[in-house]
Amino acid sequence: MILIDGKQTAADIKKEIAAEVKEMKANGAKTPHLAAILVGHDGGSETYVAYKIKDCEEVGFKSSLIRYEDDVTEAELLAKVEELNNDEDLDGFIVQLPLPAHISEQKIIEAIDPKKDVDGFHPINVGRMVIGLPSFVSATPDGIVELLKRYNIETSGKDCVVVGRSNIVGRPMSVLMSQKGMNATVTVAHSRTKNLKELCANADILIAALGAPEFIKGDMVKEGAVVIDVGTTRVKSDLTKSGWKLKGDVLFDEVAPKCSYITPVPGGVGPMTRVSLLKNTLLSAKKEIYK
Ligand code: NAP
Repeated sequence: MILIDGKQTAADIKKEIAAEVKEMKANGAKTPHLAAILVGHDGGSETYVAYKIKDCEEVGFKSSLIRYEDDVTEAELLAKVEELNNDEDLDGFIVQLPLPAHISEQKIIEAIDPKKDVDGFHPINVGRMVIGLPSFVSATPDGIVELLKRYNIETSGKDCVVVGRSNIVGRPMSVLMSQKGMNATVTVAHSRTKNLKELCANADILIAALGAPEFIKGDMVKEGAVVIDVGTTRVKSDLTKSGWKLKGDVLFDEVAPKCSYITPVPGGVGPMTRVSLLKNTLLSAKKEIYK
C-alpha cells in the first residue's frame, strides 16, 4: 500500500509556483493578485481564508481580504463583486461559502466575471470544463487529478466510482475522470443509489466525497483499489486540544491494507485543494485560460 502524501505534493507544487512567480517578476510582470471576500465569523470559513492568504504570501502573490458582517445585504455584496470584476490589478477572487441565508449564493457566483472566477464555480467555467475547453476547475477535483498524475496512477480504462454529486466536488470530479486524458469509466453514486456497497467493491478507483465519517468500510473496497478520501468532518475528541478531530469518509485502518494507493485525512486531498486555488490564480495572471 502506498500512502499518497498530499501535504508533500502540495509543498512541491508551491515551490514550483513560487519559482515561476519569481521569474515572472524578474521579467517585469506584475505580481499575481488574489482577493477573498469573507462574510461573518464562521470558524471554518475564517480558517480557510486565513490559509488562503498565508498560501499567497508563501508563493509571492499579493492578496487582499475584504470582510463583511453577517448583516451585509445581497446588493452590497453584488456591488463589491462588480467592483472586483473591474479591478485591473486583480487576477482572481473568491467569495468564501457558505453565505448567510438571506444572500443567494448562486446569484453571487453568477455575478463573478468567469475570467476572475478562480474557484471555478461559475456556470461558464463549469460548462467549459464539461466540454473540455480551458477553464478554471474547482479546486478539490483539480487537486485530486494532480495527485493521481503525480503518483503516475493509471486511470485509463479503469472503473471509477465517485460517491457524492455536489457541484464543488463529486460532479466535477466525475466529469474530469471520464474525460479524454483520464479515460476512466465513471459511476456517480449518491444518497439514492441502490447497492452502494457492491458498486464500491467493484471500483478500481474509489473517490469518497459524501461527508459521512468512516462510511466506507473494508468490505466496500476491492483488493488493490485506489482510494481517494475527500471527506473532512470535525468529530468530537477528548484527545485533542481543540476538542475535535478531522475524520475522512473512509475507515482508514480497515481499508488501507487492501489498497494499492490511499490518501490520508488529514494530509491527503486538503492541502491539494489549497494549492489548486494558487494554480488557478497563476493561470489567470498568465492569461492562460481566457486570452
Ligand atoms: P455535500 O454538498 O453535502 O454533498 C454530499 C454528497 O454525498 C451528496 O451528493 C449526497 O447525495 C451524497 N451522500 C451523502 N450521504 C450519502 C450516503 N449515505 N450514501 C451515498 N451518498 C451520500 O458535500 P461536499 O461539499 O461535496 O463535501 C463532501 C465532503 O468532502 C465533506 O466532508 C466536505 O467537508 C469534504 N470536502 C473536503 C475538501 C477538501 O479540501 N479536503 C473540499 C471540499 C469538501 P445527495 O445528492 O443525494 O444528497
